[in-house]
Parts: sequence; C-alpha cells; structure tokens
Amino acid sequence: MYEIERKELVDSLRRKGIKDEAVLSAMEKVERHLFVPEAVRPHAYEDIALPIGYGQTISQPYTVAVMTEQLKLKPGQKVLEIGTGSGYQAAILLEMGLKVYTIERQPEIYLRTQKLFDKLGLRILMKLGDGTIGWEQYAPYDGIIVTAGSPAIPEKLKKQLAIGGRLVIPVGDRVSQTLTILTKLDENKFDVEKIPQFAFVPLIGREGWKEK
Ligand code: SAM
Repeated sequence: MYEIERKELVDSLRRKGIKDEAVLSAMEKVERHLFVPEAVRPHAYEDIALPIGYGQTISQPYTVAVMTEQLKLKPGQKVLEIGTGSGYQAAILLEMGLKVYTIERQPEIYLRTQKLFDKLGLRILMKLGDGTIGWEQYAPYDGIIVTAGSPAIPEKLKKQLAIGGRLVIPVGDRVSQTLTILTKLDENKFDVEKIPQFAFVPLIGREGWKEK
C-alpha cells in the first residue's frame, strides 16, 4: 500500500539534499502510514510532522532523513534513540540493519508503540523512562539520536557514546533548535558540527526541560 506515495516522498528527500542511499532505501521500505493515527493517515507521505496524540508528533520525514544520515552508522552497529514516539524513526534504524534501543517517557505512548512493534514483528528493545540519563546497561553506543529538543547536551549521553560514535541532538530553546552533532574523539574530546533551524517538541527530564 502507498508504494507510489512513498517513492515520491523519497524522491523529494533526494531533491532536498539527502544523499545516503541506505537511509533513502529504508525510508522507501518502512510504511510510515502504519505509525500514525488513522485520522492523519492520508497525510502520511507528505513531508510534514503529524500529531500522534498526547501532545506529541511523528517527526517530519526530512528531519528523520537528516538525523539518520548524520549518525553515519553501518549495519550491525548499536544505536540508542531517546524519544520513541510513534516508533517510525526506530523502525528506519532497524531496517538499516542496526541494533536499536529506544526510550520513551510517556507511558501511554510507550505501551501503544510497544504493541505496534510486536504486531509488526520489529525487534527493537524499548524502555519506559527518562532518556536524558541514557541506558547504561547496553552502553557504549555507536550512535545516539535524540528526537526531542533539549536545552543542553545531557552528560550521561556523552559518556554512553563509544569512541568514534556520533550523538545527534537538537539543542536550543523550546521553540527552535540547532541540530548538534558530536563525534567522540576520546573520553573527554568531542568534535562539534551544527545544522540550524529545526523545531522539536521538548525533551523533558532530569537533564532536559522541566514539565510545564
Ligand atoms: N522519534 C519519534 C518518531 O519517530 O515518531 C518522534 C518523537 S517525538 C518528536 C518526541 C518524543 O520524545 C515524544 O514521544 C516524547 O514523549 C518523548 N520524550 C520527551 N522527553 C523524553 C525523555 N526525557 N526521555 C524519553 N522520551 C522523551
């Protein structure tokens, strides 16, 4: 279902500058319409963020593509996602052959997405909790992706990144953020790259924003 729409979406991502064929191919395969509520399904292949309930969103496909491209991961590597939401980003990472760990703080979203992963047979390890403190048990990760906007870079995430690994996180105020990419050079040394102008829902937690 929706094969043509998915192909058109991927073509539009290519035109917008996404080059990584592994990312594009995963986005052509994963059925985004299965990760959104029925009511917005007709819009699943538009390049826009969509509401998923509980005040949260599934990120815009272009944003998913840029962030995934920036992780620069290879099949078999380990990735931690903070902010599972609909599960779409995690499904893209799994499709790319990665070992995926993901954390969601909202119980209702956690339960719904856990059920969806089971139904679709997606082997993604999921945890309910505050992702700003990471997931020590499976660290270090070759990549960490934070899909909510943070006031700063959580120290625990920097610690749980493998040497050579990349942390992709939107950092800024509650309205707009700069996509910040850290590459861990050694235990205390990071290279930093920045891509401006993204807008995410807030990362709420011990090292994130306070709940309003
Ligand atoms: N990656 C998601 C997807 O593919 O649909 C998009 C996620 S949505 C933009 C951000 C999610 O981060 C929300 O579901 C929100 O509840 C969650 N979140 C916010 N703060 C969090 C935290 N400290 N730990 C884990 N999840 C958090």
